[in-house]
Amino acid sequence: MARIVMKFGGTSVGDCERIKNVARRVKAEVDRGNEVAVVVSAMSGVTNQLVDYCKRIAPLHDAREYDAVVATGEQVTSGLLAMALQALDVPARSWSGWQIPIRTDGAHGKARIEAIETAELERRMASGQVAVVAGFQGIGPDSRVTTLGRGGSDTSAVALAAAVKADRCDIYTDVDGVYTTDPRIVAKARKLDKITYEEMLELASLGAKVLQTRSVEMAMKYRVRVQVLSSFVDAPGTLVCDEDEIVEKELVSGIAYSRDEAKITLVRVADRPGVAAAIFGPLTDANINVDMIVQNVSEDGKHTDMTFTVAKSDLDRAVKVLNEKTEDLNYQRLVPDSNVVKVSVIGMGMRSHAGVAQKMFKTLAVKSINIQVTSTSEIKLSVILAEEYTELALRALHTAYGLDTH
Ligand code: ASP
Ligand code: MG
Repeated sequence: MARIVMKFGGTSVGDCERIKNVARRVKAEVDRGNEVAVVVSAMSGVTNQLVDYCKRIAPLHDAREYDAVVATGEQVTSGLLAMALQALDVPARSWSGWQIPIRTDGAHGKARIEAIETAELERRMASGQVAVVAGFQGIGPDSRVTTLGRGGSDTSAVALAAAVKADRCDIYTDVDGVYTTDPRIVAKARKLDKITYEEMLELASLGAKVLQTRSVEMAMKYRVRVQVLSSFVDAPGTLVCDEDEIVEKELVSGIAYSRDEAKITLVRVADRPGVAAAIFGPLTDANINVDMIVQNVSEDGKHTDMTFTVAKSDLDRAVKVLNEKTEDLNYQRLVPDSNVVKVSVIGMGMRSHAGVAQKMFKTLAVKSINIQVTSTSEIKLSVILAEEYTELALRALHTAYGLDTH
């Protein structure tokens, strides 16, 4: 007997037929003799609709009321799935975040889970009752409903799996696993059987949309074995696990891309101590995250060009903040560019093998793709390219690192 947390995303519970299909999958797990808790998302499109209502009522709304509204999507699905299970003679009940309770901090709209009190839930699971838990929500310090940020029900599921010490957390979604890169762009993309927490964390934070980044952090911290699989086909998915569980190690495991970044170049800023602080200080104050930064060598010893990236959604604000500082910063020109893509190659093998970067540079050079900005960490290498090269770059790199299906 095992204890399993199953999580179903929005498309998997997109309509009543699909909810009944999910109930059959849950029943199959129960019939195998397992103790099961299920975490559900809102039916697909519902959260977007709820967010839209909030924006239309009041563009600058009270974050606590926003949470009260957007948390309802998951509550609907949890009740419906509990009913569908009962209809199959599987004992089940729904649980809202506050009923368990799933305690979070008070950061409405992006709350963090702090503790889950599972005693009652575990007692009922042990007696054969399936717990159907509304994902994405919790209860804050002031007893108000909180939500965990978009895509947050992945995090609910992993946190619950950690709290009840589940043997596995199965994340059912509309893709059948984690791929070497986006299969909609690279037809030769391959499904991975296993991937390490570290690699999955990089993939998720660098643009792969399959799991919420925070859920991977949580899985890594508590060593929860997470499987990503499809609710529509019967096949094993991708296991996110410890490095020790992976026998065949690849140099590069995956290639991610993100079109959500934009580039800013400040032309001819003064080249003197304190300039970086003067540029990035005001951006930090405005809550704008800067990702990659390059400073060119100064030709005359007095001026230099500074290039960096911010989230595309922050570009206009960043430009405004910097324009207000033109006097202090003394730059000649500000050049914003939202027509860029960040492409990243990721692999544990990069820690011990040289040449990964050189392969990337050569591959892109052969295709005459100019690299605008580069950044590296122990297990990833990212470059900024003109957006129109996304497809070409992904395909060429996928082949170069030997990832194509044969
Ligand atoms: N329903 C929420 C969202 O759309 C949470 C989730 O699906 O994970 O962001
Ligand atoms: Mg999701």
